[in-house]
Order: sequence, then C-alpha cells, then structure tokens
Amino acid sequence: MAGNLETQCCIAGGGPAGLMLGYLLARAGVAVIVLEKHADFLRDFRGDTVHPSTLEVMAELGLIDRFLALPHQKVRKLGAMVGDTPVMIADFTHLPVREPYIAMMPQWDFLNFVASEGAGYETFTLRMSTEATGLIEKGDTVVGVRAMSPEAPIEIRADLVVAADGRNSVLRARAGLVVDDLGAPMDALWFRVPARPGEAGETMGRVGAGSILVQIFRGDYWQCAYVIPKGAFETLKAAGLAAFRETIAAGLKWDPARLATIASWDDVSLLTVRVDRLRQWYRQGFLCIGDAAHAMSPIGGVGVNLAVQDAVAAANRLAAPLKAGTLDVEDLKAVQRRRMFPTRVTQAIQLIAQNRIIGPVLELKEQPALPRALRLMQRCPVLQRLPARVLGLGVRREHVAEFIRAAH
Ligand SMILES: Cc1cc2nc3c(=O)[nH]c(=O)nc-3n(C[C@H](O)[C@H](O)[C@H](O)COP(=O)(O)OP(=O)(O)OC[C@H]3O[C@@H](n4cnc5c(N)ncnc54)[C@H](O)[C@@H]3O)c2cc1C
Repeated sequence: MAGNLETQCCIAGGGPAGLMLGYLLARAGVAVIVLEKHADFLRDFRGDTVHPSTLEVMAELGLIDRFLALPHQKVRKLGAMVGDTPVMIADFTHLPVREPYIAMMPQWDFLNFVASEGAGYETFTLRMSTEATGLIEKGDTVVGVRAMSPEAPIEIRADLVVAADGRNSVLRARAGLVVDDLGAPMDALWFRVPARPGEAGETMGRVGAGSILVQIFRGDYWQCAYVIPKGAFETLKAAGLAAFRETIAAGLKWDPARLATIASWDDVSLLTVRVDRLRQWYRQGFLCIGDAAHAMSPIGGVGVNLAVQDAVAAANRLAAPLKAGTLDVEDLKAVQRRRMFPTRVTQAIQLIAQNRIIGPVLELKEQPALPRALRLMQRCPVLQRLPARVLGLGVRREHVAEFIRAAH
C-alpha cells in the first residue's frame, strides 16, 4: 500500500545539485525531502573537483573549516605537456577568493558532508534507497512525486518538485521537457594507477599524436582519463588490454609495468560524454537543475560546480516564496533565466574546445605543435589568470543570499 507524505519541496536526486539545494532550503526554514535512489554516495570516477566557486559557497555558509578538514589535495596551477613541451595553462593563486585552488575530494565525501550538515535541521529529510519514479499531476501542474522506497511505493505531495536526478533524469522525461543535444566528438575512459612511495605530482594533461591523457594526483593513486573518439571503446577492447596498457604507458611516459593494476576492462570506466540542455527547465510546480537541466562536457571539470551554482541560485530565489506558500511559475522561470546564461557560455566554450581542439588532436598522426595562444601564455604568465578565472569561478558566480547565511 502506498504511503503518503507532504512537504514544501521534494527533490529527486542526492547529487551535488539536489543535496546542496536541500541543505540551503532546509537552512532557510523550508521543509524539504531529498530522495536518493542509492543506499550510499559511494560512486567512483564522478566529479571530484571542488572549484574555488564552491569553496567560496562553503565559506559564505560558515562551513569551510569543517569541509577542508576532510582529506583533499589542492590544485593551485594546471599544466600540460603538449608533445614534449611543458606548458602552464591556469594559475588559480590570484583568484579573489578565500581558497584560490581546486580541492580534489572524492564526491562521496563531499555529499556525505552536505548530508550530515543538512541533518542538523529539522526541516531536512534525506531518504536513501528511494527512487523517484513519476510525477503526480493535477491538470498542468506538478503536485508531487511517486517513488519506490525499500518498504513500499510512496507518494509525496509538494508545492515544488525539483528534478536533480542527473543526466539521465527520469523526472524531466516524465515532465515532457525538450532536451537539445549539442553533441560531443569524444568519450573518456577513467582508471586509477597506484602512486609510487614518495611520488607526488601535479594534475596535468598530456597531449600527443592522436592522444589526450589527464593525470590527477590523488595522494596514494593517480586518477587518469584517456580521451577517445566517440564510440571507440569497443574497438579498443577488441584490440586487447595489453595494447591499451601499452598505449597509456607511452602516453604517460611511464614504465608499462606500472599499469599491471589494470587487470581487466572492469578496471576501466567509460564516461559517455554528452553535452545537452533543456530548452525550458520548469513547469508549474516543477524545476530541473544540475545535470538534469544541462549535462556538461568533462572539459574543465565544471559539472559539480555548475550544479552547486544552480542550487544556490534556486535557493536564493525560491526559499522565500516556498516558505510563504506563494510559489509561482514566474519564480521558476527566474531561476532558468539566471542560470541559462552561464550554462550557454560554459557549454559554448566546451564545444569550441572539443570540436576545434580535442576532435582534431584525436586524429593527429604526429606530435601536435604548440598553439599560438599557449605560446603567448608561457611568455606572459599573467594570461594564465584568465582561464583560472573562467574555470575556477565560472560565469555569473552565485553568492548565498544573506537571509540564508544568517539562518543557522
Ligand atoms: C565519470 C564522470 C567523471 C566526471 N568528472 C567530473 C569532474 O572531474 N568534475 C566535475 O565537476 N564534474 C565531473 N563529472 C560531472 C559531474 O559528476 C556532474 O556534472 C555532477 O555530479 C552533476 O550533479 P547533479 O547533482 O546534477 O547530478 P548527479 O551527480 O548525477 O546526481 C544525481 C543523483 O540523483 C540520483 N538519482 C538518479 N535518478 C534518481 C531517481 N529517479 N530517484 C532518486 N534519485 C535518483 C543519482 O543516484 C545521483 O546521486 C563527471 C561525471 C562522470 C560521469
């Protein structure tokens, strides 16, 4: 038999967007239920980059010291090897924020942290192992969510339903919203390689003949991404694991023996790169944020941070009308209006990078030449601050509204 619940806001999805929005609204005094279909947050190779803009949100909320007590690595500068030439691409150290670096932190630590901070508020409820399966509608208005909990199906009536259920959002499909696919010429393979004792290093990219690799130092291991042409994973698999290990070892300039820990294809995760966005993010009583509204390319590792920025913008605009029971479709429209611009600009930059740089590099048969812009950046290091600003702070940075900061 279905159980019935009522709340002011029901959020489907306990990722960065959903949990952060749940936390902010609960802190502002709005009754929130967050539904997460998994039993825990343990998911490997998700966005582990916490950018300066997100760290600044944590600082505005007075959470930064507790947050940074969690294990993380600091990335202050981003470099790359283009062929055999080392280049510096972004220098975060001059950003006008309290924490001018990217914190590399497992996403489950980040999510557990936000969930445990949320648990301090009576207005915050997180239901794990509970999957949103559909919308409850009354005429054109969304008035609630159907979900499957471990015990039984439940129905949750809410003044607002938020789909923060990621790039394969079930709820946005149920709502009939139109998605524009912007295309991507590549996929990415993720794997980890143990670090050697005493080894430390910088997060960097390696661009060679037909090959792009990213290596991120994570303390006791390297998290690596190998960028491949879209759909090429099956061809790679057919060529065999030994050939794959050789290619990676050559690209990283590592002793092939180091890659023995990639013992089967199960040790390699495929990220099917997708760049898309909704034309309209809302309906009466319903809003999409984060990847559910816009799947981002992994270029720049900005997905988590855009999701958090969406959550801040949504909470700033929606907390008061939700509390007062006056929420109107105009409020939801305003959230899209605020967040569509940064989404468009960020995706436009990603599309240029993937279509003009990454796609062509993947077809190169010889070592790439250093592009003129990168040469200039090496001669004039101050120019490295611009990509740091775009990556680290994003476009149209959100600040937590005073009334949410003041609430404890
Ligand atoms: C392999 C990989 C690597 C990535 N690397 C980076 C990176 O380095 N940096 C970066 O910034 N971004 C990265 N991203 C992207 C980043 O993870 C996402 O952009 C970001 O997590 C989006 O946050 P979100 O909350 O919108 O969605 P998600 O993180 O996808 O969270 C959605 C949540 O909803 C839950 N859910 C789904 N359906 C339902 C349902 N029906 N009911 C209830 N719960 C549901 C899911 O279990 C999940 O917890 C990566 C993504 C992948 C896949």
